[in-house]
Amino acid sequence: MWPYYPELLAIPVPRYTSFPTAAEFSEDVSQADFLHALEDVSGEISLYIHIPFCEKICWYCGCNTSAANRTDRVTSYLDTLHQEISLVASRVSKSAKVTRISLGGGSPNAIAPIELVRLFVALTVEFSLSDDVVLSMELDPRTMTAQWAEVIAAVGIGRASLGVQTFAPHLQEAIGRVQPMRHIAQTVDWLREAGVTSLNFDLMYGLPGQTWDDLESTLAQAAEMGADRIALFGYAHVPHLISRQRKIDGTALPDQAARFTMAAKGHAYLCDNGYAPVGFDHFARGHDPMALAAKLGILGRNFQGFTDDSSPVLIGLGASAISSFPGLHMQNEKNAGRYRMLLSQGKCSASRGVVRTPEDRERGDIVMRLLCDGKAEIGAGQLAAAMPQLAPFMERGLVSCDDGTLAIAADGLPYARSIAAVFDPYRQDSVRRFSSAI
Ligand code: SF4
Repeated sequence: MWPYYPELLAIPVPRYTSFPTAAEFSEDVSQADFLHALEDVSGEISLYIHIPFCEKICWYCGCNTSAANRTDRVTSYLDTLHQEISLVASRVSKSAKVTRISLGGGSPNAIAPIELVRLFVALTVEFSLSDDVVLSMELDPRTMTAQWAEVIAAVGIGRASLGVQTFAPHLQEAIGRVQPMRHIAQTVDWLREAGVTSLNFDLMYGLPGQTWDDLESTLAQAAEMGADRIALFGYAHVPHLISRQRKIDGTALPDQAARFTMAAKGHAYLCDNGYAPVGFDHFARGHDPMALAAKLGILGRNFQGFTDDSSPVLIGLGASAISSFPGLHMQNEKNAGRYRMLLSQGKCSASRGVVRTPEDRERGDIVMRLLCDGKAEIGAGQLAAAMPQLAPFMERGLVSCDDGTLAIAADGLPYARSIAAVFDPYRQDSVRRFSSAI
């Protein structure tokens, strides 16, 4: 069992899906920066498509999404997305090969199945797709149908991620996401028949009223259903930032010690039941590409979390989608109305972001290697400057340094984000902006 040092987890820290994080994005970047970055792209690229609709909105959700109950709104969003695909692709060299396409949201299956086909036709026509392009998709089991499974098979989606969170009915009620077990089991059957070979379940600990027994039975059921990957996230209750979360009973939330225990026991349970740990909150069966990437030391981290995608460029399409280039991160307009208006004027909507300085890139490498591999090589000057903040972790044996390599111990895993944050000069006023480190 991991040792619990609450004093080391007292300061909320970012999840570091990028460095600098989205909290450092500002309007000090321009459309011209974005267009230049697109024109410089070569080699392998990945695409991310954001569908900001869901049939029902879950109370805990922090994503940019809204209810898909007005067909005209969904239709006009998709029309705009098609315009953006053409506009962005016209700036990207045809020599750049798309090796990954991921759809996320929201719930991509909140749109009509035929719209997925239309999107893939447009992407195929506008971009140069690699012959072995990897296609993945987030799915809401509540809106999964046999027709969706047929389209997933026809398009060739090989990887899928299901928003499960918990199988316990009383917890599903407490977080506003009711989805019977039989519905999830049916979804899994449909996806396997459709040819999905890598299936992820998103699960959560730290839910209101949740006990270890609740979590253990959810983990057991996920393993029994054959999930190839499991992402086990701590629920971050920040109703001052996400107003939907006000519906969740904050008084029923487990305290930090109980959260820590659930995370530790969850980690041990999955490792004892056929899953390899990947980073600090993902787990994968040995055959899954994510487990192989972790084993080979080529695991990466992007806006969707840990990944086996090694493309240096990720282009985000859709409202709020983030694009990532070696020297620039940029986010599209979040508001769907403004996103539509900008595209209707023939402009890209990328409006906020950050230019990555050489120092950002160097520090970003350290943060990513620490989180992905548990170790990073660090220059003597940077190490000396970080020592005062590293000392509390070193004294407790959670991290060690040998010949310029900083290595997080097995017991130090729950402190990985806090250790990585030592190398982040932007995190000074992080107390209300980020979630608990566990
Ligand atoms: S289905 Fe997913 S994206 Fe949609 S509201 Fe629920 S958690 Fe958020």
